[in-house]
Amino acid sequence: MQKPVLKISELRANVEDKEILKGVNLEIKGGEVHAIMGPNGTGKSTLSSTIMGHPKYKVTSGNVTLNHEDVLSMSVDERARAGLFLAMQYPAEVPGVTNSDFLRTAMQTRMEEGKDVPLFKFIRELDKNVEKLEMRQDLPHRYLNEGFSGGEKKRNEILQMLMLKPKIAILDEIDSGLDVDALRIVGQAVNSMRSENFGCLLITHYQRLLDHIKPDFVHIMMKGRIVKSGGPELIERIDREGYDWIKQELGIEDERVIVEDEKRKVVSIGTCATKEMLDL
Ligand code: ADP
Ligand code: MG
Repeated sequence: MQKPVLKISELRANVEDKEILKGVNLEIKGGEVHAIMGPNGTGKSTLSSTIMGHPKYKVTSGNVTLNHEDVLSMSVDERARAGLFLAMQYPAEVPGVTNSDFLRTAMQTRMEEGKDVPLFKFIRELDKNVEKLEMRQDLPHRYLNEGFSGGEKKRNEILQMLMLKPKIAILDEIDSGLDVDALRIVGQAVNSMRSENFGCLLITHYQRLLDHIKPDFVHIMMKGRIVKSGGPELIERIDREGYDWIKQELGIEDERVIVEDEKRKVVSIGTCATKEMLDL
């Protein structure tokens, strides 16, 4: 099997005509775990959705390739079949579709034409992974994410990853809403996937997930760009000192100050503080 390489070059993307990604460069190879950290609203989820092909995010320039194949010209399902996987920050609830039907269909679409996912093997693997993630046994028969707690939804995303065995997985804030035990379990599951055939992009706000999954590379994203890359030493410093030192080092304005000013302006002219005005 060819070692996967996801390459993102000078990627720019808009949401509702507002530029969010402003030239992102990143290369993830099989065997590597990359972490992206950064303040809220800097475009981390936009990056993951854009790579996966969410229609709301419009690429204006740049490239994304997986083993030299143009990802941006693929439909979402083609991207998934090519081996990309996104564990979403806010997984959707899909009443009427059971978890196991969903998983089996997703796996089926990745098979060659005329071949089926063997039912017995599927069930055995599903059971094994449900146990590994310490999820409730009734879970395969419940509707996808319906009534799941925040932590159950996140584990369910990881279950999908274990079953689908992607080449490159993007995990968007998989740690939010997880307690200490769940963090450990999710960490172990991701670590169990580590191999030359699997690359991982972890998007996270906190260092705590990175105690369990040691990244090889750490990138800091601010205002739609990766402004700094390094090794795990960056995590400790961010944990200790936040992001201010990076802003100072790179001469980036403090977003919060601008936001506060905007709020005052908005309030003083008597309009509602619209989301757009606050999202700088
Ligand atoms: P992060 O994940 O780093 O917190 P996001 O990528 O979610 O940041 O958001 C970056 C910016 O893009 C924010 O200003 C956010 O409001 C805006 N944005 C992201 N997704 C949407 C969307 N679907 N509709 C409108 N605005 C969006
Ligand atoms: Mg996000």
